[in-house]
Amino acid sequence: MHTHVASHQSTIRTAGRYAWRALRLRCPNCGGRGIWKNWLIMREVCPVCGLHLERGEHGYIVGSYMFNIVASELVFAALFIVIVVAMWPSPPWTWLQWGGAALMLLMPVLFYPFSKTLFLAFDLLFRPQNFEDADRTRGPGNRH
Ligand SMILES: [Zn+2]
Repeated sequence: MHTHVASHQSTIRTAGRYAWRALRLRCPNCGGRGIWKNWLIMREVCPVCGLHLERGEHGYIVGSYMFNIVASELVFAALFIVIVVAMWPSPPWTWLQWGGAALMLLMPVLFYPFSKTLFLAFDLLFRPQNFEDADRTRGPGNRH
């Protein structure tokens, strides 16, 4: 029997599993590889489990972009603070200025695939995969 009411502990375990898969750029639902055509283009459907990766809802793409920007700024801010604290009292301000500017531009691109899979993992946690998601492209016999 499948139940939608998961215990708190199993939710945390699921979240951890999804996040770990997402960090390796795998499908958060099944851990399958091959959900990326290249660094910036994600397939619409997971080739392993058939999960719809672009879940096609209004605002979804905007949400994942916002998530990307916020997450990369947070990483950037954390790095900045770590460097300043570590090098105090004479942090390399000039280096930080130029390096920071370069990172600001690069981070969203470098971070993009991670933000997409992490966002997907997050989304999947709160809106578990439903039958519609899985069965639109595959026969019922192919589910596992
Ligand atoms: Zn999958």
